[in-house]
Amino acid sequence: MLTPRRGRERQREFFTGRLVSSLSAGERAAAHTAGYEPGTDGGLIGRDPRSMTAEALRAMGHEPLSPMEAIRARCLDCCGGSVDEVRKCVAMACVSWPFRLGKNPWRRVSEARREVGRQLAARRHQKSSDPSQHLVASAEEAAGG
Ligand code: SF4
Repeated sequence: MLTPRRGRERQREFFTGRLVSSLSAGERAAAHTAGYEPGTDGGLIGRDPRSMTAEALRAMGHEPLSPMEAIRARCLDCCGGSVDEVRKCVAMACVSWPFRLGKNPWRRVSEARREVGRQLAARRHQKSSDPSQHLVASAEEAAGG
């Protein structure tokens, strides 16, 4: 049995390389849903995701992902779903290589910034667990402040 993903790939393989003029109206609609649009040379090209709705992307089989999640998913796909193989990947020239474990190594958070975050979290926690702060907030609200 075909997996849904493989099924979608088969559908795309059916349309790839076809001329728009060779498609029936129903096939054109199916090609559009599958992610194609007419190119300038009479063939089919991929649609522009910048002008597509979330529903149209979902209809193609895509789910909302962050760019990091998308890279990780691509690496897993590249390695047949093996987490271990992605970890051991030696294609160092691949642009995805630094990102393949799901973290952006170019955006390390400094210890100073981490500390600021800890202090903010502690202050928020203290405020939310101190009943007198609620009274102050209620009194301010009652006074219209
Ligand atoms: S980094 Fe490795 S696993 Fe990821 S896409 Fe490139 S070759 Fe494949």
